[in-house]
Amino acid sequence: MKPINRNNLTKKCTMCFTNLIPREVGSYIGNCYISNYKNRIYKCNSCVNIYKSSKTKKYRQEKTVGCSIHLQDLIEGARERAKKNKLPFNLKVKDLRKIITSHCPIFGFKFELNKKDINNSWKNSPTLDRIIPEKGYVKNNIIIISMLANCIKSCATPEQIFKVGNFYSKLYEEKGIKYET
Ligand SMILES: [Zn+2]
Repeated sequence: MKPINRNNLTKKCTMCFTNLIPREVGSYIGNCYISNYKNRIYKCNSCVNIYKSSKTKKYRQEKTVGCSIHLQDLIEGARERAKKNKLPFNLKVKDLRKIITSHCPIFGFKFELNKKDINNSWKNSPTLDRIIPEKGYVKNNIIIISMLANCIKSCATPEQIFKVGNFYSKLYEEKGIKYET
């Protein structure tokens, strides 16, 4: 990157038209990140933040279940968790494209992205489940299920899940607690 000629700073913010003063790293003087300025992103720091958040919002709104960006995001999340938990990883977007569905295969409701329900939870979001957790994020060990199903399954065996279900259905019955099925 070329050094900036400080005598020739005539750039204005392309959004609010204020004069741009590049701000060196660690300095409080200036209104434009020097890296942005050098990369010819001529926006003041306030505007650059507004611009970025509007882009993120737009990107989120445009993301749909099974689109390339969505699958890529699932892959990236899995890659990070695999690294953190020292688990095998070899997933590719095409692997997920083969197995993604529009509805949760367990509960049958439609998958939704970036949409919290009335309980402020993401339970309708599609997530990657490692069928055998310790085998990691590898082809043939991954299915896509809702976050709700994934939370319930967690690292439990089918027998353990039944036990929890039976325990609570009995407990709720004893206490006369009504719940939606
Ligand atoms: Zn501005």
